[in-house]
Amino acid sequence: MTSEQDGWKEKYEALAKDYAQLTQSKEQAEQRGQWLATQLAQGLKGQVPALDQELLQLSERLSANNQDQRIDRTFRQIEKQVNLLEGQRSSVARELRAGLERWLGQLRKLSDSEPFINVLKSTERRIPEATLHLHKLSTLLLEIVELQKGLLPETADGAYALSDRQDVSDIDFELLESRVAAEMLQLIEALNVESSGIALARKLIERVEQGVKTADIPEVMAELVQLARLSTGIEHEEFEHYLLNLNEQLAYVQDFLTQSHAEEGGAFAAQQAMDVRVRDDVDRLHQSVRTSTELAELKREVSQQLSSIVQTMDEFREQEIAREQRMQLRYQSLLEKVDQMEVETGRVKSRMEEEQLRARTDPLTGMPNRAAYDDRIAAELQRWDRYVTEFSVAVIDLDRFKMINDQYGHLAGDKVLRLVAKVLQKNLRSSDFIARYGGEEFVVVFPSTGLSDARAAAEKLCEAVAASPFNFRGEPVRVTISLGVAEVHTGDLPESLFSRADTALYQAKERGRNQVVESID
Ligand code: GH3
Ligand code: MG
Ligand code: MG
Repeated sequence: MTSEQDGWKEKYEALAKDYAQLTQSKEQAEQRGQWLATQLAQGLKGQVPALDQELLQLSERLSANNQDQRIDRTFRQIEKQVNLLEGQRSSVARELRAGLERWLGQLRKLSDSEPFINVLKSTERRIPEATLHLHKLSTLLLEIVELQKGLLPETADGAYALSDRQDVSDIDFELLESRVAAEMLQLIEALNVESSGIALARKLIERVEQGVKTADIPEVMAELVQLARLSTGIEHEEFEHYLLNLNEQLAYVQDFLTQSHAEEGGAFAAQQAMDVRVRDDVDRLHQSVRTSTELAELKREVSQQLSSIVQTMDEFREQEIAREQRMQLRYQSLLEKVDQMEVETGRVKSRMEEEQLRARTDPLTGMPNRAAYDDRIAAELQRWDRYVTEFSVAVIDLDRFKMINDQYGHLAGDKVLRLVAKVLQKNLRSSDFIARYGGEEFVVVFPSTGLSDARAAAEKLCEAVAASPFNFRGEPVRVTISLGVAEVHTGDLPESLFSRADTALYQAKERGRNQVVESID
């Protein structure tokens, strides 16, 4: 009898263990799903208003107590991509915010009427929200324009007459206009405009650079608003497609969770039913033990009850296995969707990187452009401020380049520019940084280099260009460069450092070109 009893006990325990495992793996699958959905919801916040609402609801529904330790590579990758998007968005938002605040600061100087100041303040309060959610930006910009219009009485021909306005007559409008223009330029630069908007951005920048009259501001602003609409950081259509795709995946995850909850509900009911049955069987068993008088009868009774318990467990186990299989299938397909999403996110990310690289590359020479130089010099100056690591810059200008263009044509001129760029790059160390600053000017940053070493490096460049065998249709063409070199000083801004090198360059031109002059300031 003892061995028979042990057999039942073992069987019972094995079944109980199986059941516990089934329940546990289902919970893990669900936790992963929840975690994933929470990440997605956070990454997509603020991109599309309609989606926001949905995301908010979803986030609320998801409980945050996930401690799944087996979050695998796929999940980490997605988190990384989502953070990347987030980071890009917030730096654009910061720049926009600063630009708008400065602009409102300028407007504030136009009037001290109380109602105006109040409206201005309330507009100001909405800036952070609008810069985080770009779709709200256009409305805010239009409102600021209206605010500005309100200050300027309209004349018969629709232009804004400034001079006959009493309370603003003491304002220096030229200064104001140039400041507003500067803010607008910063705004345009802060907007990450997609390729179809670049022509518009360029046109607008040109127009603003030529000077914006106060009367023109509303019109220019309308174009700026249009630009803001085009701006997403990456190609609009592609981004939209990406969002739609993510939205679809999100719907799937949501569906997965809903079904899991339903399954869980079913499992709970089944488990309760089983509990009741097992409890009944065990009660009956106790009863038999208490009331039986005969050993053989007791043995039979116990056997019967145990059989019943085992049968109940078997049924439950089968149900659970079927449930688990359904869950596994759905989970598998969820993972496939996640893989798909990872591929898509990676593609968008590399497109973004490409765009960024393109925005910092000069198309003619393939070298970094002025924007890239601006970043680099800002970083060098920061390092200088913090760690006092000296460095120098050289400004380079081709000599009598206009003559080359005039004599051989613009295309030949372009070719010369490309060749000079190559010679310069070849004769610099890999740690040096060179950019095409504009037209026929280049600028070099020599990190950790004092003035005399930078001068030596500049001499080398000068000689290398002069010694290069340029020719046009077999005829030798003399190409030389002049260079101005300056070393960083305490308190330097990018402009002050550049200006010292530029003054030295001017002296090199004056002294006969094809030479290096170092700044002694
Ligand atoms: P200097 O020695 O005083 O520098 O004389 P320069 O002729 O080089 O100076 P200037 O500034 O008068 O002329 C610069 C010329 O460079 C005028 C412009 O047409 C030409 N240039 C600027 N950018 C480009 C370009 O991208 N391609 C070509 N082909 N020419 C360019
Ligand atoms: Mg020049
Ligand atoms: Mg020149």
